[in-house]
Amino acid sequence: MNICVCVKQVPSANEQRLDPVTGTVIREGVSSILNPFDAYAVEEAVRLKAKFGGQIAAVSMGVPSAVETLRRIVAVGVDRAILLTDRAFAGADTLATARALALGIQKIGNVDLILCGRMATDGDTAQVGPMLAELLGIPHATDVSKIGAAGPEFIEVARMADDGYLRARLPLPALLTVVKEINVPKLPSVAGVLRGRRAGVDVWSASDIGADPGEIGLRGSRTRVVKTARPEPRAACRFLSGADELLEVLKGGGRA
Ligand SMILES: Cc1cc2nc3c(=O)[nH]c(=O)nc-3n(C[C@H](O)[C@H](O)[C@H](O)COP(=O)(O)OP(=O)(O)OC[C@H]3O[C@@H](n4cnc5c(N)ncnc54)[C@H](O)[C@@H]3O)c2cc1C
Repeated sequence: MNICVCVKQVPSANEQRLDPVTGTVIREGVSSILNPFDAYAVEEAVRLKAKFGGQIAAVSMGVPSAVETLRRIVAVGVDRAILLTDRAFAGADTLATARALALGIQKIGNVDLILCGRMATDGDTAQVGPMLAELLGIPHATDVSKIGAAGPEFIEVARMADDGYLRARLPLPALLTVVKEINVPKLPSVAGVLRGRRAGVDVWSASDIGADPGEIGLRGSRTRVVKTARPEPRAACRFLSGADELLEVLKGGGRA
């Protein structure tokens, strides 16, 4: 089973910054990590490979420094890493991102299963996986928490739902987005870390994947961020030391 995992480099949680003029995410000069949900997708790919054989490719669209994130993934068992990077990809909304990833995956070729994280912790939309599946014309299941039986032509999954699980059987090729309940990602071995450090990462530009400049990046985005704002800070929080103090506050009309 040949698997492609889509991985995104995201700003570390306390370093999210937005350009006040353009409203877009500032990605340069910000410390970055692998999108946490994508670590579960990578681990699941490694487990499936151990069970069914095949190759794992990881693809990311992002800034050149994402090469380091890809190397860390090679350290845990990914066979091939590809970075889609080009000024022409900058400013992409979710559709333009999915288009670039779809072309990258078509260039990789011969992929049976695509794994994505449930969502990215910066964009938070959870749209890229389903959009990618639609663009590739393959079935998808979101919020997958368990992979069951699989064969050359099908895969069975359990999806998390509000009040339980939904079981689905998808023909391959297919795309799954996974939740953190699916596994516990392993740390890389020392040998893995060394392999990752030495690993070559294929770097593809927009023209390498045959992208139409009008369909990718800011030009290919159908949505625009028109305004961004931080929520107003609430009134200062006061800690109460007991029931008497609470009573006083309530008598005073609830003003702490
Ligand atoms: C209206 C709008 C406008 C935007 N404008 C800009 C902009 O101008 N500039 C800008 O920098 N960003 C912009 N963004 C953010 C940009 O769309 C997202 O970074 C990107 O499209 C991924 O969406 P997401 O973060 O919501 O991912 P999700 O859909 O939440 O991610 C789900 C999964 O898809 C995969 N995935 C997502 N992105 C990638 C990737 N790049 N490479 C590989 N796999 C990936 C991962 O497996 C991930 O776990 C905009 C977003 C919106 C909604």
